[in-house]
Amino acid sequence: MAVSESVPLLMRLVSASVSVSYRAARIARDVLIKGDLGIVDKGGKNDLQTEADRSAQRCIIASLHKQFPNVAIFGEEDLAPTTKIPDDFIETEFDQDVLRHECPENLRNINNDDVVIWVDPLDGTKEFTEGFLDHVTVLIGIAVKGVATAGVINQPFHNFEEIPKYGKARCIWGVQGLGSFGFKRNAHLEGNVITTTRSHSDYTITKTVEACEPTEVLRVGGAGHKVLLLIEKKAHAYVFASIGCKKWDTCAPEAILQSLGGRLTDIHGHPIPYHANVVHNNTGGVLATVANHDWYVNKIKEKVDSETLSKFESVKAAPPSLESQLSQQTLNIQNSSSKSANGKVGEEKTRKSEVNKATHKK
Ligand code: AMP
Ligand code: MG
Ligand code: MG
Repeated sequence: MAVSESVPLLMRLVSASVSVSYRAARIARDVLIKGDLGIVDKGGKNDLQTEADRSAQRCIIASLHKQFPNVAIFGEEDLAPTTKIPDDFIETEFDQDVLRHECPENLRNINNDDVVIWVDPLDGTKEFTEGFLDHVTVLIGIAVKGVATAGVINQPFHNFEEIPKYGKARCIWGVQGLGSFGFKRNAHLEGNVITTTRSHSDYTITKTVEACEPTEVLRVGGAGHKVLLLIEKKAHAYVFASIGCKKWDTCAPEAILQSLGGRLTDIHGHPIPYHANVVHNNTGGVLATVANHDWYVNKIKEKVDSETLSKFESVKAAPPSLESQLSQQTLNIQNSSSKSANGKVGEEKTRKSEVNKATHKK
């Protein structure tokens, strides 16, 4: 169903993102059920891509681009520019539940140019290939003026061990100033439970987790899944002293966590910017907490040696001139309504940079 232009842009974006996240979850489920994952090794440490990552990204980006042609969208996967997106792959629904909520006052008048969408079509791909299905999520983060402002975390295989046929998809969404919806919180959690990576660990990561004095460590996959553990009160903090996590891993989880009073920053406690021109890796690492964020920042500062800490650089947004260069890049998706940067319908060029800029601003 179409949505009135009088609904604030942010709520239309969130509503469309919730709907398309369910479609992406269905794609991931179908790939698993068919059984041919089409695994490609992207060359890094445990850095894999499957048919679910590829198809879900095509679906999400083509769908959001169709509804919001002037909003910048970055997706994780580097996809061949020749891929044609069939029309029936485009999700046109807007989630009605989202539209029943009022947009926070301070976000009612944002424009297309204020927004960057960060898409991780499948977070926890390594775990997806190994059957840790509850670690897998679809992440759509909406940054406004460089701040993680709204997000969608869809868990395609929620409760897969209890519900037959790989569980059921659930969607958690949230907006800063409004709150987050679609999950239940445990009442209380004892101790100091820390969650961190299971497939990208190293000495520095382990030492930094230890510096935070955990009573228990949960080594699980996916940035989205780890933040779900925080918001459900199954863990107190997510500690990741590594540069391996990217903006599409943290934007949606950060917005949701912060809408509930938690925080997600780099390991020094500095905010992570999400402007279009920003470096993709979270070079300052990731620290997310439900509460007492500064306590964790101070423990890391106190107990991790300064030479190690100096390797984690807080991210700064690049100068605005770079942003306009990025906006010159061409589309790398194709569908019947999309225009490439040179304005010719359906004509595409090969992308030049490492950046997967899916849309351009006009
Ligand atoms: P993890 O906690 O290991 O599941 O990582 C969270 C997200 O960051 C996933 O999307 C990973 O693919 C990504 N990530 C973390 N470390 C690395 C790395 N060393 N190389 C590539 N991707 C990584
Ligand atoms: Mg990811
Ligand atoms: Mg991914």
